[in-house]
Amino acid sequence: MLCEFSPSSFLSTWLLLTAIGFSIVMVSSSIVFYHYYWKNMVTFEKWKWKTNPKFPSPEKVRDEIVQTAKGIYTATIPPTISIYLSQTGKSKAYCSGNPLTDSDHGGAMGVLIQFLLIVIVSDFWEWGYHRLGHVYPRFWNFHKHHHVFFNPSPFAVIADEYVDQFFRALPLLVFPMIVPINMDIMFFTYGAFFYAYGIYLHWGYETPYLSAHNPIFNSAYHHYLHHAKAILGKPYHTGFFFKIWDNCVSGGVYPIEKCFCVQCEQKKGKRSEEAFKKVVVPDYSVLLNWRFWMGRGALSGTSASDENIAELTEEEKVFASAKRGAGGKKVN
Ligand SMILES: [Zn+2]
Ligand SMILES: [Zn+2]
Ligand SMILES: [Zn+2]
Repeated sequence: MLCEFSPSSFLSTWLLLTAIGFSIVMVSSSIVFYHYYWKNMVTFEKWKWKTNPKFPSPEKVRDEIVQTAKGIYTATIPPTISIYLSQTGKSKAYCSGNPLTDSDHGGAMGVLIQFLLIVIVSDFWEWGYHRLGHVYPRFWNFHKHHHVFFNPSPFAVIADEYVDQFFRALPLLVFPMIVPINMDIMFFTYGAFFYAYGIYLHWGYETPYLSAHNPIFNSAYHHYLHHAKAILGKPYHTGFFFKIWDNCVSGGVYPIEKCFCVQCEQKKGKRSEEAFKKVVVPDYSVLLNWRFWMGRGALSGTSASDENIAELTEEEKVFASAKRGAGGKKVN
């Protein structure tokens, strides 16, 4: 399907994919943001599942959107090259009208196997690349821009520097060079499945249906924790989907005895109605005012002043200052 609909020129394919990608990101993140962050939508029943009891400032959310927009054009370069190569017969990528009835490639079972393989191999890739960003200063210099969002909203899913966005999307080019892959399945897995799970991870809320204490999947708690606590030299939970990769390496797991998942916090009595009454939900409707986007420094992606300091231990504050600085020093 995708191969047929893509314009034949490289530039127009790239522009089209960038427009589609940005639209998917903005529409899907906006829907979740509205239901869980908009002032009149936040209820006690919802809030008691919020990992960080506080809400980010509207400026911080604006920075997430700006950062996403500043890098997304690089995320669409690998899939554009991939489509170009498949159209010119230079890659193993292929298209078929309906993959489910494509008996040459195994029909529905073939779709399931490709989907699972793409998920597992991509998850390993994303984990490995992400971990580099927390181990080596050169990589951290790019990746630290994602960690400015210590209390992320659903708009932070790909709020990365352009280099990180490019490498995150590189499997879309590399995998079809190595093995035959149906482009529609690959794009669906990245554009719908991964992005949906990315929204869940940056939701800011947890769900009783996937406890942080489950042994297999990274939950929204783990990625919240990652944003708030992981910095250069502290690669806690750099995994995306599966926990197994972080479980296999040193320093990949945050100490369980310090768990502050929402269920542990509820047990400590920290999600009471009294506590909720003190919570200030910012007026995010300013995000709909064009003047808010025209203010001084608004389009820098670093305009917000809210910082992570209050939540951190003394040791973590030292790391946090490295986060804001040039970040050129390796910290062990
Ligand atoms: Zn993140
Ligand atoms: Zn990270
Ligand atoms: Zn817990």
